[in-house]
Amino acid sequence: MKLERVELFVVRLPLKRAYETSGARETHMTRVLCRVESEGAVGWGESVAGELPWYSGETPRTVLYALEEFILPELFKADLARPEDVHRSVAWIREHRMAKATVEMAIWDLFAKRAKKPLAALLGGTRERILCGVAIGIQPSIDALMETIAREREGGYQRVKLKIKPGLEVEIAEATRKRFPDLDFMLDANSAYALRDVGLFKRIDPTRPMMIEQPLAYDDIVDHAELQKQIHTPICLDESIHSADDARKAIAIGATKIINIKAGRVGGLASAKAVHDVAAAHDVPVWCGGMLEMGIGRAHNVHLASLPNFRLPGDVSASARYFETEIIAEPFTVEKDGTMRVPTGPGIGVTVLEDVVRKIALERQELRP
Ligand code: MG
Repeated sequence: MKLERVELFVVRLPLKRAYETSGARETHMTRVLCRVESEGAVGWGESVAGELPWYSGETPRTVLYALEEFILPELFKADLARPEDVHRSVAWIREHRMAKATVEMAIWDLFAKRAKKPLAALLGGTRERILCGVAIGIQPSIDALMETIAREREGGYQRVKLKIKPGLEVEIAEATRKRFPDLDFMLDANSAYALRDVGLFKRIDPTRPMMIEQPLAYDDIVDHAELQKQIHTPICLDESIHSADDARKAIAIGATKIINIKAGRVGGLASAKAVHDVAAAHDVPVWCGGMLEMGIGRAHNVHLASLPNFRLPGDVSASARYFETEIIAEPFTVEKDGTMRVPTGPGIGVTVLEDVVRKIALERQELRP
């Protein structure tokens, strides 16, 4: 398969509710959407790079730059027999994983559509429904957080993830456990702490969170291994894992007992699957992280999370929570039992509203071989 035409769209949408983490407070999401075309088939991808480089160094502008300068010229030369060939073709380009994932995921969608199979089937997914959780940003007060958790539980979510930041972690964990004695909750620190904060994590242990996500530096595994020796709460790595090799090393030294997989962070679906497989081989459960995706990225996540080792509820939640404007015709909803159906149509299995995308796009570029 030769790529014949690629279109890139920059889309910026307001969030219904601002989202605060230890890294930033976000009110809008800017995404690069990618439409690929070959022999009459079309595929779509969505980048997860944020407006500000607080989670990773990539932003929508660096995604556009890397795609135009290096990634697409390389892919236009390639003859792609399988979607996995994309990852190999651009492996020589260092970093820029979110940029690579943007087009790689579009090409997976295209291959699945050509094969008239759902993306999940091409990936090796086995679940008809995925397990849904929800991520809750830092709220203005503990009372507001408790109300938000109560509301999300009524929505059916199987677990809640609470963002924490220094000064609020112990209070958030204790208040949550006191108010919700049986709740499956986890904490996400987004790298806001250092090993010297071990005392805080020991105080969190008795509140029994399911896990604490990426408490230490975004590029660390050694200190995480040391911290894990000293606390009971399982550590789950997010920012530190960029490849199956990173996962293998982190598991080997005891830095992580659970892995959050985000296809954008690891360079696409082939790499996400490889991380999944390494974790499964070591009996380390994984779950699918979220980056406040619009409809296209959300659809990709749902298919990815159908793989068998996605044994824990992820961040993939209902479309309606995030944006007023939909870019797909079949928004994702959560069932009463906290699951979400994996679309069964070809490719990502949802209809991209192309006229909406074209209308709201702030920029559009078209590239050909
Ligand atoms: Mg995280």
